[in-house]
Amino acid sequence: MSDAVLLICGPFSAEERSRLEAAHPSAHAAGPEEIADLPEAVRAGLRAVAYKGHAPFGGGVMDALPALGVIANYGVGYDAIDVAAADARGVKVTNTPGVLNDDVADLALGMMLSLSRNLEAGSQLVRSGEWAERALPLNRKFSGGKAGIVGLGRIGREIADRLAAFKMEIHYTSRSEKDTPGWTWHADPVSLAREVDWMVIALVGGKETENHVGTEALAALGPDGVLVNISRGSTVDEAALLDALEQGTIGGAALDVFLNEPDIDPRFRALENAVLQPHQGSGTVQTRRAMAELQLANVTAFLEGRALETPVN
Ligand code: NAP
Repeated sequence: MSDAVLLICGPFSAEERSRLEAAHPSAHAAGPEEIADLPEAVRAGLRAVAYKGHAPFGGGVMDALPALGVIANYGVGYDAIDVAAADARGVKVTNTPGVLNDDVADLALGMMLSLSRNLEAGSQLVRSGEWAERALPLNRKFSGGKAGIVGLGRIGREIADRLAAFKMEIHYTSRSEKDTPGWTWHADPVSLAREVDWMVIALVGGKETENHVGTEALAALGPDGVLVNISRGSTVDEAALLDALEQGTIGGAALDVFLNEPDIDPRFRALENAVLQPHQGSGTVQTRRAMAELQLANVTAFLEGRALETPVN
C-alpha cells in the first residue's frame, strides 16, 4: 500500500501543490474523473482530498476512495461537491469562506465602474491613436444610484458596504430580513428589480438557486437596469439574460461567471453592453494564498483528529 493520505485533485499552482505535498504524503489527480484510474493500493490509503475546480465531485467518485473522510474545497462555493452524497458516506466537506470577500466585492465594483464609465472603450480610444478624431460618448453616472443585492451573505454585504460608500441607496433580497438599518429588504428578486438600477447577484450556486433571477426579474430591471453576477452562472436564467441584452430590454451586464465555463455561449462575445471577466473574483496572489492556507488547515485538522476550521456539513 502507498503511504499517500492526501489526494491533491485539480489545477493547483506549483506553489500550492508543493505546500500541500510538504505537509502530507500525497497522490495527484487532474480532476475527479481521473480518480478511479489511480492504482487501487493508492486509493485505499487516501483519507483526505484537497479539491480545486468546478467539475462535479459526486458519490461515485467518493466510492472510489474507501478511506475518504474529508473533501477540503479550495473556494467558498462548493456547489461542485455533492454534499448529500458526502453526508450519506460520513464524509466531511470544508470550504474557504471569508478570506475572499474583499476581492470578490472589489471585482464587482470594478466591473460596475468599468461598465458605467465605458473604461474598455476609453482605453481602446487612447490606444488606437484616434483620440483626436472622435470623442468617447458621454456615459453614465455611477455614484448616487440605486443598488439591489440578491443574497446578502458575506460577499453580498461587502458589495453593499462599498456601494453605500458610493452614496447609493441599498436594497436587497434574501430569505429573511436582516438587521440592516437604512437598507430596504424585498421578498423576491422581481420586487427588488423594480426598485433598482443595478442588481448584483451574490447567491450561493447549486440546484436550489438555479435561475433565481429569471425572465420576470430581468423585465422588471428594465432598459436602464444593469445585472451584475459574481456568484455562479446558474443563478440567472442565462438564455433570458442573453435575449434581454441583445434586445436592449435591460441596459447592460457585468459578469464574472457563466454556464459552461470556460466554453461560454458565444453570443456573449458580440455584446457591447456587457463587461465580461474570466471568473477571477478571488484571483489575487494574496487571496489565493489565504484560500490555499485555509484549505490546508482543514486537511491537517482532519488528519490530526482536530475540529475542522470551516466545515460545511
Ligand atoms: P454566503 O455568506 O453563504 O451567502 C450566500 C447567500 O446566498 C446568502 O445571502 C443566502 O441567503 C443565499 N442563499 C443560500 N441558499 C439560498 C436559497 N436556497 N435560496 C435563496 N438564497 C439562498 O456565501 P458567500 O461567502 O457570500 O459566497 C456567495 C457565493 O459567491 C459563493 O457560494 C460562490 O458561488 C460565489 N463566489 C464567487 C467567486 C468568484 O470568483 N466570482 C468567488 C467566491 C465566491 P440568506 O441570506 O437568505 O441565507
